[in-house]
Amino acid sequence: MKRRDFIKATAGALAFGVAGPRIELLASETAPTQQKLRWYKGNIHCHSQWSDGLDLPEVVVDAYKKNGYDFFSLTDHNILHKEELRFTGFAMNYTPSNLKIFDGETSFWKRIAPSYAWPNLIEADVKRAQDLFGENSVTLKDTEDGVYVRMLTDKELSEKFEEKDKFLLIRGYEMTAQNVHVNLLNVDETFFIEDPSIRNLVSATYDKALEVYADNSEPYIYTLNHPMWQYYNIQPSYVFARPGIRFMEVTNNNTSWKYLPEAWTPEQLWDIVNAHRAKNEQPALYATGTDDSHGVFRKDYLPFHSWTRVRSAALDIKSIFAAMEKGASYISTGLEFADIRFDGKTLEVKLDPQVEGEYKIEFIGTKKDFDETNKILEIDGSDGRPARSVECWSKEIGKTLATVDGLEGSYTLKPDDLYVRAKGYRVNAGCCNHGESYDISPLSADAAWTQPYRQGDFL
Ligand SMILES: [Zn+2]
Ligand SMILES: [Zn+2]
Repeated sequence: MKRRDFIKATAGALAFGVAGPRIELLASETAPTQQKLRWYKGNIHCHSQWSDGLDLPEVVVDAYKKNGYDFFSLTDHNILHKEELRFTGFAMNYTPSNLKIFDGETSFWKRIAPSYAWPNLIEADVKRAQDLFGENSVTLKDTEDGVYVRMLTDKELSEKFEEKDKFLLIRGYEMTAQNVHVNLLNVDETFFIEDPSIRNLVSATYDKALEVYADNSEPYIYTLNHPMWQYYNIQPSYVFARPGIRFMEVTNNNTSWKYLPEAWTPEQLWDIVNAHRAKNEQPALYATGTDDSHGVFRKDYLPFHSWTRVRSAALDIKSIFAAMEKGASYISTGLEFADIRFDGKTLEVKLDPQVEGEYKIEFIGTKKDFDETNKILEIDGSDGRPARSVECWSKEIGKTLATVDGLEGSYTLKPDDLYVRAKGYRVNAGCCNHGESYDISPLSADAAWTQPYRQGDFL
């Protein structure tokens, strides 16, 4: 059965009523734009040849635009895609012996390497861009050191790809220290800090962003990336220390380690932080789903695998960020929600499956009297693993409160619930088979996660 036919066959079960008291309530809050609220699809973490991605930036942006993304952020390591002439970057130095021939030039230039080794640019990468946009689309310069390739800047990418109400680019970068990576979106200046203590680094990056971007006229977003990488790097208490951290990647690429059953997966880490935050009346931590792709033509780099949908009245940075900050978003590894409602008490969801199969929805939450103690599991650094003190929190946190078979379901918060979130998935979808362990749930293929909601929240 084709997807469209399948949707038709199940359409009766999928459509929410378009009228009703909740709709009216929402309409009175946001009257002129309510009809236009849409779930925009985005990837806010991705790499190009500006750092260690395989593709030229225009190839990456084009691929996401063509694959149905509405907003996109190219977040290269420790660099913004600016006009300033440069030859150095993340683990790279391509400074030519004769600088004079670059007089009057702008942007970042990389020299073509004879063969691939991280993070080289090779001829095949240039050819992919030329095949897409024409022979002359890439600016090359023949020098005595070899052929140099000019990268397109954010401004040029914006002129080439952005379309009002159709495709939005959000400039940003990934602040990449040895142990902590954070994304900073909608900023025009970078910072870099390093600290041997991961705990300190989490707080320091958050504080530094507040300091550096304090006077920005536009809002920015800070996301804590791939907490499992390299190996249990980000512990729950590190996130407790900065209740202002609002976003963390829950789905991202794989890591090469297995989860410790007594500790946590990124999804459980998300619950541990939210249980603590709700108990202490601090803001919720919302999940982001990203590819963190380093090559859109390489399947092992998992492009188009994981994304964030944001329900917004308009496709502009302020509207998208405001929606993200109030939890009007969900994350996916293939499955979509047809709708998500939360009226302050009841979370109501419908799935919009892309493939035929058996679906389940789990409502997950934590009770107010959860066990708040934790034990430390010391990983001694043998077996090639880095030494870590891994926090193991109670399994009462992030428990399944109810399970529903099928494409729709609801859960009403009980007086002893701190919050509830929903996760929909295709049963037996298997995993994405790209290694032994994952920074995403074992139910990763065809799954979707709502944000956590508390009494009084409104979506
Ligand atoms: Zn990273
Ligand atoms: Zn990255």
